[in-house]
Amino acid sequence: MYWRELLMNKIFRLVKKLQIDKLLSMDKIVFVKGETYPFIDYFKGLERVKAVRQIFGKETEEVLRSLKVEFTWIGGYMWINSADGHLVVNSRYLKNGDRIDIYLDLIHELVHVKQFMEGKKLFDTNYNYTERPTEVEAYRHAVEEAKRLGLNDAQICQYLKTEWMSYEDLKNLAKTLNVKCA
Ligand SMILES: [Zn+2]
Repeated sequence: MYWRELLMNKIFRLVKKLQIDKLLSMDKIVFVKGETYPFIDYFKGLERVKAVRQIFGKETEEVLRSLKVEFTWIGGYMWINSADGHLVVNSRYLKNGDRIDIYLDLIHELVHVKQFMEGKKLFDTNYNYTERPTEVEAYRHAVEEAKRLGLNDAQICQYLKTEWMSYEDLKNLAKTLNVKCA
């Protein structure tokens, strides 16, 4: 299918840009829980990505330069450490996960990095996960980038679907984000 080829081309360009291949050869990393590394040593070129610049503006380079990343074997995909705001990534996900998913998750988490810097409460349990303003904002950035990459609504829906989200939640989130889920 034509769109798939187009999409793959885009992804490969993206992969090149992010140097994910380099990032995936991580045998040199000692997987000690809690150890953090400079984010830009593993995720390269993101400071040139428009979607990232839209999050941090002129401070993009500075923020990414000081951001730390931790690799772990526990937990889900990726999240922000609530104590100091560093990024935590599951190594298995990074190695085996869909590259578009990983890329969109990075965009999502970088929005949380910005929110953390602004002193916003990332884990506000007064809200349902899919209605939490910090989550909606993060998903908005990721979905916008997904659309820019050429993903259609069905593919974006697939991306949004996670095991901790009920069907109702997914429907609500999709509606909020103006994504049509069948
Ligand atoms: Zn989030």
